[in-house]
Amino acid sequence: MEEEEAALSFKDLGIIDELCEACSQLGWKAPTPIQKEAIPLALKDKDVIGLAETGSGKTGAFGLPLLQALIARPQRLFALILTPTRELAFQIKEQFDALGKAIGVTCVVVVGGIDMTQQAVELGKRPHIIVATPGRLVDHLEKTKGFNLKALKYLVMDEADRILNLDFEEEVDKILKVLPRERRTMLFSATMTSKVNKLQRAHLKEPVKVEVSSKYQTVTKLQQYMLFIPCKHKHMYLAYILNEIGNQAVIVFCATQQSTLKTALMLRNLGFTAIPLYGKMSQNKRLGALNKFKVKERSILLATDVASRGLDIPSVDYVINFDVPMHSKDYIHRVGRTARAGKSGIAITFVSQYEVEVYQRIEQLLGTKLDVYPTVKEEALVLEERIAEAERFAKMEMSRLDVKSGKKGKKRELMDDDTEESLGVRKRIKGKKKDKKFRK
Ligand code: AMP
Repeated sequence: MEEEEAALSFKDLGIIDELCEACSQLGWKAPTPIQKEAIPLALKDKDVIGLAETGSGKTGAFGLPLLQALIARPQRLFALILTPTRELAFQIKEQFDALGKAIGVTCVVVVGGIDMTQQAVELGKRPHIIVATPGRLVDHLEKTKGFNLKALKYLVMDEADRILNLDFEEEVDKILKVLPRERRTMLFSATMTSKVNKLQRAHLKEPVKVEVSSKYQTVTKLQQYMLFIPCKHKHMYLAYILNEIGNQAVIVFCATQQSTLKTALMLRNLGFTAIPLYGKMSQNKRLGALNKFKVKERSILLATDVASRGLDIPSVDYVINFDVPMHSKDYIHRVGRTARAGKSGIAITFVSQYEVEVYQRIEQLLGTKLDVYPTVKEEALVLEERIAEAERFAKMEMSRLDVKSGKKGKKRELMDDDTEESLGVRKRIKGKKKDKKFRK
């Protein structure tokens, strides 16, 4: 991270030797700015509201003091970490496992899409830390015999603005009702509501707010561009840019599940290694997709906004907003997928004739006008015919998937089992037009 040269060490912040050792094992040489701000306060038993951009080291900022408190007073079912998404839950667990390995900390993930019985067995073993999405945790609190959180000492809400908004209202209220009031509470988020009533629901006690960058700033090593193009040419420019940038890790954000699938199919038809990720996929498939992307088996991840928050994928080189996000804050979260942990990254936002207004709101939020991403129109247009063909195949494939699902309107999940067939389609395209260069 950027502050690596700063003199302050984890030890200087008050972190004990075992945990300093765990940090250095992870390659964390020095605390990041949010860690420098939040850790000393949390170690003084303060409730903390941390505003920090994605990739800032938030998990360490709440994880280290939490672990230190646990070591000081070891206790089962000590801490609960609430997150809005399943993927984020697994990523947080990964960091806790890594930091707590040497001291024998047990951490369990409780999220939807996974067998409840198995989770109940794991909860029965009374882990030290639970990382959960609100809905599934409520299910266990209501249905799993002998499970309760009456002795809990530490509550963390990551992406707290989302946890505290209306989508999770019922679940979060149920959870907060069964937690002891005598506890530490930490809220972390890249964007935070100023609506005090939302915060009051979390029962914070004289919280200290720490902020390491202005509210809507995006990370500094991020180069942001826009591209004003006709809606009908979006696929064409996407293929053109992906072709130009070569074999880099790219996340392409689409507005809907439909367009995520269609674009993935189209790209596969053209020979790109693209994989879709969206909310309705089963948990296993989501993790599978993410993993394939992480280990670089697939270099292009097509995602809806479900994937835009909290995913820790350090190696993303490009974020392409195929559709302009409807909510300006989502823009910040989306582009936060690149230029992480001190690396540089590029974000390109496609703006069609229908999206000008939404886009202007983003520029207002950023307080700057983005440069136009350099393209050569003639070179993009060369692909026009080929793209139209790939789009037709993608459309056919979509209706085929619809038929296979057996239910009208319900998309069968498109993942690897479909890849070969899609590639088969691609081969047919290639057979027809051998001259065009598309990366393998
Ligand atoms: P987070 O913001 O918690 O999602 O963290 C983003 C990434 O930064 C993760 O891959 C962490 O492992 C990494 N990270 C966290 N703290 C540090 C640190 N002090 N030095 C270097 N990398 C860190």
